Amino acid sequence: MGSCDICGKDTKLFRAKIEGTMMKVCRDCSKFGKVIGEVKIAIKDTARQKVATIYAQEEEEIVEEVVPDYSTKLLKARQKKKMDQMDFARFVAEKESVVSKLETGSLKPSLKLARKLQNRLGIKLIQVVKEEKFELESGTGKDFTLGDFIKKKK
Ligand SMILES: [Zn+2]
Repeated sequence: MGSCDICGKDTKLFRAKIEGTMMKVCRDCSKFGKVIGEVKIAIKDTARQKVATIYAQEEEEIVEEVVPDYSTKLLKARQKKKMDQMDFARFVAEKESVVSKLETGSLKPSLKLARKLQNRLGIKLIQVVKEEKFELESGTGKDFTLGDFIKKKK
């Protein structure tokens, strides 16, 4: 409350920019310029923003998979130990043919086998990947239809 800078009326005042000057004016006189700040409490819509953020996060699941360069890693691990494939096969308790195939990349180890080799050799053969469900839906080389996606989600 106070008196208007223009007409002197004692009423509720608005901060207004009139002809380049900040003035405190009554409602009527504020029409001569641009009202800057009738003090209003801005309602911050934080609750709604939070919900939006949650929905924005894509659903993802953590998946373990064998590293793509497992064959190189196995070969290097064997060379480091100066073993031939036969010794190496014995060392990791697998068939020599399996070791050979793993090294050439013609056999991709199962997670179980990869885990065993990883522990035995002290090398990293399993990586954790975060797989987004939407990527699965569009297909990542797997035969995965939208129907499967919906069924799986239930
Ligand atoms: Zn006035």
